[in-house]
Amino acid sequence: RAKSDGRHTCSFFEPAMDVEVQARRALEVELRRAFEEEALEVHYQPLLDIASGEVTGFEALLRWNHPQRGEVQPADFIPLSEEIGLIGPMGAWVLMEACREAATWPEELRLAVNLSPAQFRGRDLRLDVVVALEASGLAPTRLELEITETVMLQDTGSTLETLHALRRLGVRISMDDFGTGYSSLSFLRRFPFDKIKIDRSFVQDLPDEAGSLAIVKAVAGLGASLGMATTAEGVETPAQLKKLREEGCLEVQGFLFSPARHPREIPLLLERLRNEVRPAPKRPPSAA
Ligand code: C2E
Ligand code: MG
Ligand code: MG
Ligand code: MG
Repeated sequence: RAKSDGRHTCSFFEPAMDVEVQARRALEVELRRAFEEEALEVHYQPLLDIASGEVTGFEALLRWNHPQRGEVQPADFIPLSEEIGLIGPMGAWVLMEACREAATWPEELRLAVNLSPAQFRGRDLRLDVVVALEASGLAPTRLELEITETVMLQDTGSTLETLHALRRLGVRISMDDFGTGYSSLSFLRRFPFDKIKIDRSFVQDLPDEAGSLAIVKAVAGLGASLGMATTAEGVETPAQLKKLREEGCLEVQGFLFSPARHPREIPLLLERLRNEVRPAPKRPPSAA
């Protein structure tokens, strides 16, 4: 009977759909409330110079500690915030919050902030950045903005203009998750990125998997010849670190050093990393 009756078949799925839609609506309401009540936090993951082992800066990563659900992953709420138009104000808040935090760090440390494609649309992103820099007093040269190729895929004209305008402020631009999209390579020609971040998916199978190794080798070489720094994300083992060093990658980030931490833990984290992560220097340190 259900087969011959389309409406009946359809209604079979409706309760499940309702549950999904309702769960999404609930999450949406909770996310808006969390943002308004300042229940979101920005945590910070260190980036290290591969040659000296010194911390070069931190990447700001958004955290939502939900009272019932626990830690909700950015992957589960950033796309939602984009759909409901919350990413604009939320992104501006992250910039402001992170710049204020970074302004309290030692001056040689930089701050990396992720940007969503939606932040380039219907919003003056350059103004958000200017306001955050001025309010915090952070030097523009200490700020790096990370974009993925999905940013480059949209209405390229005004996106490129915004990127150039940000660049003129003195801010650096990094290409995040390099190699995971379809046209990462062509975007390197369209915009002079300061840094390429090699996606974790290529790092995780090092040092032995031939395909990943070939890609890491190629990207490190590409970065060197284009004058772009290369950072490997998701470094979890000493063997991966060794390989990345051999391939000429300049900077590393990953659980081997530390996951993202609450800002209050940064002073201790810096102290620990200064003592622990000291790869043998190739040359005597006197030159530095
Ligand atoms: P991403 O920018 O590529 O950030 C790196 C992600 O890899 C972070 O996940 C980090 O916790 C994780 N990670 C770092 N090292 C390791 C490792 O050694 N092993 C493993 N397994 N993972 C590692 P997270 O914090 O869950 O963020 C996921 C993504 O969400 C980010 O990817 C970024 O695209 C987005 N995101 C996070 N915060 C923000 C934000 O404030 N604004 C925007 N627009 N996007 C954000
Ligand atoms: Mg990133
Ligand atoms: Mg990344
Ligand atoms: Mg990534």
